[in-house]
Amino acid sequence: MSWRDLRCGEPRPEHEGRAFTLAGWAARRRDHGGLVFVDLRDETGVTQLVVNPEHSPAAAAVAHGVRNEFVLQATGRIVRRTQETVNPKMPTGEVELQVDELRVLSTSTPLPFQLDEENVDEALRQQYRWLDLRRETMQRNIRIRAQLVRIIREEMEREGFVDIETPILWKPTPEGARDFLVPARLQRGKFYALPQSPQIAKQLLVISGFERYYQIARCFRDEDPRADRLQELTQLDVEMAFPDREFLFALMERIVQRIWRECIGVELSAPFERVPYDDAMLRYGIDRPDRRFAMEIQEATDDTRGSEFGVFANAPCVRYISVPRELSRTEVQTLETQAKSWGAKGLAYIVFRADGEVGSPIAKFLDDDLLARWREPGHTLLFVADTPQVAAKVLGLLRLQLGRELGLVDESRWDFLWVVDMPAAEYEEETGRWHAAHHPFTRPTDESVELFKTDPGAARAVAYDLVANGIELAGGSFRIHEPELQQRVFEYLGIGEEEQREKFGFLLRALEMGAPPHGGIASGIDRLLMALVGEERIRDTQAFPKNQVGYDYMTEAPIELAQEQLDELGISVEVEEPSSAG
Ligand code: ASP
Repeated sequence: MSWRDLRCGEPRPEHEGRAFTLAGWAARRRDHGGLVFVDLRDETGVTQLVVNPEHSPAAAAVAHGVRNEFVLQATGRIVRRTQETVNPKMPTGEVELQVDELRVLSTSTPLPFQLDEENVDEALRQQYRWLDLRRETMQRNIRIRAQLVRIIREEMEREGFVDIETPILWKPTPEGARDFLVPARLQRGKFYALPQSPQIAKQLLVISGFERYYQIARCFRDEDPRADRLQELTQLDVEMAFPDREFLFALMERIVQRIWRECIGVELSAPFERVPYDDAMLRYGIDRPDRRFAMEIQEATDDTRGSEFGVFANAPCVRYISVPRELSRTEVQTLETQAKSWGAKGLAYIVFRADGEVGSPIAKFLDDDLLARWREPGHTLLFVADTPQVAAKVLGLLRLQLGRELGLVDESRWDFLWVVDMPAAEYEEETGRWHAAHHPFTRPTDESVELFKTDPGAARAVAYDLVANGIELAGGSFRIHEPELQQRVFEYLGIGEEEQREKFGFLLRALEMGAPPHGGIASGIDRLLMALVGEERIRDTQAFPKNQVGYDYMTEAPIELAQEQLDELGISVEVEEPSSAG
C-alpha cells in the first residue's frame, strides 16, 4: 500500500479531474457547518482539501473532528477552484482536492503553541522542538544548513581534500575555552576531554601525509553563557601541507560565493578586501568590523595634546565617533553609563546643533580652530580618553550600538572582508599573562619570533579571519612545524617544559619526524548559516539546541547520575546549590 501518490505541493490545473491520494498534516481547518476546508501540509507545500457532506458524508464526519497537526490521508479528485476562490499566494492555489475519503492516521493533543504564532517563548519552543521544527523558518534554516554543507563538501572534494574523522574522546585541544570532560570507566580516575576543535589532530594528519584534509567537525567548548556562543558547534575544518594563503583565501571565497548564490540568490564579488588588524582596531575598534555603515572612529590624540582640558591632555589616547544626530543630555548620559560598564572612565561630548550652536561642557577648553575643524552641524561627537585598547573597545561598541539603533546599517549590503596581520599574543588582565591570540600552534611571522619574547603585544602571527557584516565566519593560520620554535613559543606563553611534555608531547614528537610546513582554516557552520539567512538566534541554526547554560529543555539533559553509576566511575559529587536550568 502506498500512503500517497501526489505531494501536497504538487497539485496544478493539469491534474484536474484525476483522482489522487495525499497525506500530511492538518495545518488549518475551517469548518463552515457544511463544507469543511483543511489545509494539508507536507514538506513540499500545502493543498486545500474540501470536504462536502453532500458528496461524502463519511469524510465530512471525520473532518469535523480534525484538529491542527492531525496527520491525515485524503483521497479525492483535483478540481479547479472558482475564479473568486483562487489563492494566488499558494503555488497550488488554482486547485483543491475534492475529498471522497478521509482517514486520520494520527491525532495530536492540543498544541502548546501554534506554528504560525510569533514571539513564542524560546524555552517552550525548545521543549517542543519537534513541533517548532515544523515551522517555516526552522524548516528553511535546517534545509539550508544541509545545502550549504553539501556545497562545502563538493568544493573541498573538487580540490582534492580528504574527509577524515577525528576522535571525540581525546585529550584537551586548546582553543581558549574550558573542556568538557568525560570520565573513563575502564581507567578509573581518568578523563577524556572533548575536542574544542580538531586542531592537533588535523596537524597530525597533514604530518601523516594527508596533504589536504577537511572535516565537517563537531567542537565542544565549555563557554560561559554569551548570546552568540555555542557550547556544541560544527565547523568546516581545513588543513593543508605546503600552505598557500592565496589558495586558501580563494577556496573560502569560492565556497562562500557559491553558498550565497545557490542558497539565497546573492552574487558576492570576490576577492574580498583585506584589512590589517591594526587598521580594523583603529577605525572600527573591533577585529570583526561591520562596514555597512560609516561612523568610523577618529583620532584626536595629537589635536588635543596641548588642550586645557586635562582629561584630554593627559590621556594616552583620545578618540571619538561623530554620531549623525543631535543627542540630548539624557541620551549622552545613558551612553556614558554604558561606556563605563565597558571600562571607560567617562564619555565627553560635543553637540554641533543644526542652528550653529555648540552644546558641550568641554567646548570652552578647546581651541576655536579645532572646533571649527570638527564642526558637523547636526552631529554629536563622543570622546573616550584612555589607553588605545579601552578607547577602541568602548568606541567600537558604541559605534555598533548606535549604528543599529539609529538605523544607519545598510541591510541590503553584504560586507565581506579578510582581517590579516593578526597579533600573535593577547594580554589577559585577570591572570596578568600573555596567551596565544589564536591558539599556541599558530606561526609567528619571521620578524615576530624575537618580538614574542621582548614585546609580545607587537608580535604578529600568520593568521587571518573572514568577517561578514561584523560576524566572524572563519579563522585560521599557518602553523609552527619546527619543534624548537614550537617549544620556544610554548615557553613565551608560559607553558613550561613539563607541561609541554605532558600536554603536547605527542605533537612535539611528531614535529620531530618530518613535519611539512602546514596551515589551515576553520569556519563555523552555525555562524555561517546565521549570517546567510539573517537568523538572529544562533540556537535556531541547529535542530536540537541547548540553552545558554547548556540545558536541553526537551530531554532535560544534563542529568544527575544514579549512585551506582557514580560508584562505577569512582566519582563523588558534591552539590553546593541546587542546579538550575537558568
Ligand atoms: N582550530 C581553529 C579553530 O577552531 C581554526 C584553525 O586554526 O584552523 O578556531
